[in-house]
Amino acid sequence: MAKNVRHLLGLSGGKDSSALAVYMRDRVPEMEYFFTDTGKELPETYEFLDRLEVILGKKIIRLNVERDFDHWLTIQGGMLPSSQVRWCTIQLKIRPFEKYVEENIGKDKVYHYIAIRADEDRVGFKPLKTTSLRNIIPKYPFKEDGITKDDVYQILEEKGLGLPDYYKWRTRSGCYFCFFQRKSEWVGLLEQHPDLFELAKGYEKFNSETGERFTWSQGESLEELANPERIEQIKINTEKAKASKKKEKPNRRLIEILTDIHDDEDDEEPCLICHK
Ligand code: SF4
Repeated sequence: MAKNVRHLLGLSGGKDSSALAVYMRDRVPEMEYFFTDTGKELPETYEFLDRLEVILGKKIIRLNVERDFDHWLTIQGGMLPSSQVRWCTIQLKIRPFEKYVEENIGKDKVYHYIAIRADEDRVGFKPLKTTSLRNIIPKYPFKEDGITKDDVYQILEEKGLGLPDYYKWRTRSGCYFCFFQRKSEWVGLLEQHPDLFELAKGYEKFNSETGERFTWSQGESLEELANPERIEQIKINTEKAKASKKKEKPNRRLIEILTDIHDDEDDEEPCLICHK
């Protein structure tokens, strides 16, 4: 008997996966959209996904709702994730997706649509070594169709979706305490969601006996980063970077300048699943 074919597209709440969703809406009407919820997303992300559902005309499947970040943090013995030990991506993003495929799709062929753009040089979805899934085939429509970052902005505007509200101060989706955040984004979190900033602070650890400490942001604790003088310094640095980017390309919108600055600052590849 011929196997069925399913089409899945994972949303992060970020601009690229959202643009891909609206781009594919009429091209693959049977597309199934899913979002793996860490339980620690920004409120703006949930609001954006609700708007996206209206434009897509169908429900976005929410995975993970019972086992959030804190559940896995307990399982990990309290060891917080970092860019070197990224257990959160495996437990909260990749495994739930693979489990969903195993339980709901079985051996049917799955086309998995991934929002890597034509102007990016990145590696796509890699199944976990422990998985038995051989039926997931990645698809890169933006790469195939030559869609770049500028096209993504245009797609989002043309479809009436725009950008998530958090783009005013942060250009990546994902957990509010994500360790991939830049200094200026932490300042944004402090100013926009002081309650979430306090919760993020609560995860940081300091061992007074050994002097060891875990901080989300490299080289300083959130307590230190929240010092008014430090905030001022971070803001001055960001303004300088904005002015220099604006000089390079005067017609770009502020949001695009901010995205460019953040892209320039990245010295390691952020999480494809969380931040796309
Ligand atoms: S957003 Fe950041 S902290 Fe959250 S699961 Fe992804 S990599 Fe981990």
